[in-house]
Formats: sequence, structure tokens, C-alpha cells
Amino acid sequence: MLKTKEILDEKDKRLREVSKEVVFPLTKEDKELIEKMITYLTDSQIEERAEKYDLRPGMGLAAVQLGVLKRYFVVVHEVEEGVFDTYTLINPKIISNSEEKIYVELGEGCLSVNRETEGIVPRYARVTLEAYDENGNKIRVRGREELAIAFQHELDHLNGILFTDHIDKDNPFAGEGLYRAI
Ligand code: ZN
Repeated sequence: MLKTKEILDEKDKRLREVSKEVVFPLTKEDKELIEKMITYLTDSQIEERAEKYDLRPGMGLAAVQLGVLKRYFVVVHEVEEGVFDTYTLINPKIISNSEEKIYVELGEGCLSVNRETEGIVPRYARVTLEAYDENGNKIRVRGREELAIAFQHELDHLNGILFTDHIDKDNPFAGEGLYRAI
């Protein structure tokens, strides 16, 4: 089982690397890691399990956050109480996006950023991604609102970017009126 302390902290330089394209078939190690990531993210959003196993709640993890510099991530999205949609996206690319931008009013979070951060991170309100599933089949997924933000946040990780990079250092709330808060 994946432990919270195995997730790299933002100070770790590996988080600044650009991850490499995945070649299929997936290795046994990658398949196992994906399973662990899904379990962690799901359990972390179920309060009693999060408490029991000391998990920090989160909806996304990129492989690089576990020290594996490969282009894949997992997003576990709670669509209603206790019901989760799971996305494992390999070699993902955004193929279209809305013009409209949004941001998380309470601030974005990241399992690798262990400090209070505030400020606006503008994201597309809707995105369509093309990626591969675990069996190497090409897939297309759409995300809107919170899910769209999660996809963009995780895709950033594959390029060595953290959400804090998007926040204006001098004025963290710059552009407040330009984007829609969610
Ligand atoms: Zn993150």
C-alpha cells in the first residue's frame, strides 16, 4: 500500500523534470504502481479510510510524484458520495479546450505541496484529452469544472510544473475578476 510519505515533496528536484513518453506494453511495475495510485486516491477520499491509514485527501497523482518519470497519471473523481470515476491516462495530450477559464476559489492543492498556499491558478473550464489506457488503446476523455482542473494539474506534473508556478508572486489574486471561481 502506498504511504503518504512516499509521495515526493515539492523540494524534490525530480518534480521539475519532464517525464518521458511511455512505451507499450506497460511494465509490471507500472501496472502495480497504477493500482496503488488508484487505491490511495480512492481511500484518501473516504474519511474513515483516510484516517485509518493516515492518507492526505487528493484526487490526482502523477507517476513522477512517486519518483517514476513516465508520462501517466491517475485521477479519481468523486461524482457523488462514495461513487468514484477513475481515469488512468497515459501519454495524455489536450486536444481542445474552452476559451473560458476558471479557478478553485479555496485554492488548488497538491499531494506534493505540504504548506498553505493561496492565489489564483487559471485553468480551462473544459478540456478534451487524448491519451492511452493501460492496454495501449487510444482513448478520448472530456472533463469540465473540477475534473478539467485535475487533468490540467496532473498534465503539468508531467512537464515539471507545479500549480504554485501559475500564481502571481506579487499579487496572488491577480486576475480575480477575469476568471470564474468554482
Ligand atoms: Zn499535484
